Amino acid sequence: MANVTELFGSMVFNDRKMQERLPRTTYKALKKTIKNGEPLDISVANAVANAMKEWAVEMGCTHYTHWFQPMTGVTAEKHDSFIYPAEDGQIIMEFSGKELIKGEPDASSFPSGGIRATFEARGYTTWDPTSPAFIRDKTLYIPTAFCSYTGEVLDKKTPLLRSMEKLSSVAVKVLQLLGKEDVTRVTTTVGPEQEYFLIDKEAYDQRPDLIFTGRTLFGAPAPKGQELEDHYFGSIKTRIAAYMNDLDEELWKLGVMAKTKHNEVAPSQHELAPIFETSNIATDHNELTMEVMKKTAEKHGLVCLLHEKPFAGVNGSGKHNNWSVSTNTGENLLDPGKNPEDNLQFQLFLAAIVKAVHEYQDLLRLTVASAGNDHRLGANEAPPAIISMYLGDDLGALVESIVNGTEYRTHGKTDMLTGVDVLPDFKKDTSDRNRTSPFAFTGNKFEFRALGSSLNIGCPNYMLNTMVAEELSEFYEELKDADDLDAAIRALVKKTFTEHQNIIFNGDNYSEEWVKEAEKRGLCNFRSLPDAMEHYVDRKNINLFVKNGILTEAEIRARYEIELEFYNKQLRIEALTMVDMAEKNITPAVIAFINQLSDAALAKKSLSSSYSVYAETTLIEELSAKLEAFVKKTAALKTAVQNAAQYKNDNLATAKYYRETVFTLMEELRAIGDAMEQKTAASYWPYPSYGEILFGV
Ligand code: ADP
Ligand code: MG
Repeated sequence: MANVTELFGSMVFNDRKMQERLPRTTYKALKKTIKNGEPLDISVANAVANAMKEWAVEMGCTHYTHWFQPMTGVTAEKHDSFIYPAEDGQIIMEFSGKELIKGEPDASSFPSGGIRATFEARGYTTWDPTSPAFIRDKTLYIPTAFCSYTGEVLDKKTPLLRSMEKLSSVAVKVLQLLGKEDVTRVTTTVGPEQEYFLIDKEAYDQRPDLIFTGRTLFGAPAPKGQELEDHYFGSIKTRIAAYMNDLDEELWKLGVMAKTKHNEVAPSQHELAPIFETSNIATDHNELTMEVMKKTAEKHGLVCLLHEKPFAGVNGSGKHNNWSVSTNTGENLLDPGKNPEDNLQFQLFLAAIVKAVHEYQDLLRLTVASAGNDHRLGANEAPPAIISMYLGDDLGALVESIVNGTEYRTHGKTDMLTGVDVLPDFKKDTSDRNRTSPFAFTGNKFEFRALGSSLNIGCPNYMLNTMVAEELSEFYEELKDADDLDAAIRALVKKTFTEHQNIIFNGDNYSEEWVKEAEKRGLCNFRSLPDAMEHYVDRKNINLFVKNGILTEAEIRARYEIELEFYNKQLRIEALTMVDMAEKNITPAVIAFINQLSDAALAKKSLSSSYSVYAETTLIEELSAKLEAFVKKTAALKTAVQNAAQYKNDNLATAKYYRETVFTLMEELRAIGDAMEQKTAASYWPYPSYGEILFGV
């Protein structure tokens, strides 16, 4: 049995180790940088580097790496050893402040959306002292930001850090205006709940679609799916429990506060939720969690799937981004308190968020857009592609009373009476949950529920922080010279709620009526990535990022191109994988089975013409017709992929073509393939079935 308190953070150069190993002045200077965002001196970096190295070497490390989050969607690392030549032909282990602060990976080999030409290769990684270094596989990992030689941001961390700074500076101004003079820093916090699938490695290895694309491109439904609702919160199987325990321990060692784990709705699907941290560390830790999930699975003969929709017909995986804002004085700004009707500060922050979500709903939608997530949004397993907010009964009533100028009535917390003497009674929450809402208020935080499972949470969070910062700046400008501040706030809050109440929806987001109602309200409904991504470069959105100093126009345009290009490549890989599976395995398998049926029928008839060959001939007829359609559709898909070249140099047009033409053909081809699977002997079908994969562990 591991001693969890000792295990926790044992692989992290955390605050305790810094205190033990750094000279007092260095430690203090570093803390100032971490806590207050003050610039860091090179002498401090030198001392920190040395202490880090000493610790890492004691822990058996030989290498260090700058660890960063380029636009590829996965993290990147390049390992260097600590060795330095010594005079006697020997080596010593060294690590300087300069090496800690700056790394030089080749920027041209990472997606840059055209910002970088291959001949302008230089790029820099820069140490992020606000996220602690850690050890994995005998290597010291140093969280860093990544930019090009000319300073363009090429990663997901830098805009996040900038947005946190921005939101902090604006929120501090607002709070000081409200008389909170002791507030000097405001932090955004995030707790990301992570869903995933675990399947057996043997089944995985036989599925080129899972290997190349992360999802099954063919696969008829198994007789049983998730309809019995017996997997959600079900008892955890021994093999899975062993994996989860191992995972918890690995994460705890890395300082990730893994807290909750349970089975999810779909067979073979599970969830892990950590305790929340600052957005920056939560992002690093979520990336780390996803990597450790995959690596730990290998040890258990399993594969961890983080694709948003690995299996058609059963729920896919998402991520819930629980987001809040708190002050250095320990106040959660999204806590309504006992009397929200008198809590002007809370109302002001809530109004800013409502306005932000309404005005920048397109950004929130596109930040969760991906080829994988397109399968989930609006498919009655995840929120729709329409962004709206759920405030619950209490806050809903508050907003209504403010808009209408009527009295606010709350239900307050009421007793939950179980009606059984031995069961303790307790207070109920003031509002129920709404599992269908993309952006739901849950007590003292918002839960952004539309994220796909593989998404880097840095992006939705920098967008969210930036849009809220923007609204708060506008509010500050409007309030700063007010004679009667309270009255000015009340008027501003009322005006904001009145103008933006259309974004609030407390009903069932999965219903058809909501789609119609949302259209009436003028809310966006972008069903796919190309539809959503177009709006990345709308003037209002470019202005938002540029004005707040988060990204330049060139950087936004680059990101837009990167996202589209990535989508196009993914769909191309999916289509080509389908063609490959169809031509090399499925078609030959069905031909062989038909052949066997024909042989069987002929053999019977040669014994006696009185034997029935009904079964054989019916199947031959059915399968032959399907196979013809299948082969023709495969050819059509192949041609369609080739035809994508006509849109070259126009990523948006290509994306729309892939979505409308190629993707449609893929769906049609799949339908025929799955129908053939259902008619073909299992011994002939080249791939493990859904039943074997989903219920095989
Ligand atoms: P629920 O059951 O309502 O989803 P939990 O308490 O289980 O609420 O929290 C879900 C996630 O929200 C957890 O990851 C948790 O750490 C996170 N969370 C809780 N409070 C905050 C907060 N103030 N800021 C960000 N995340 C939070
Ligand atoms: Mg939750």
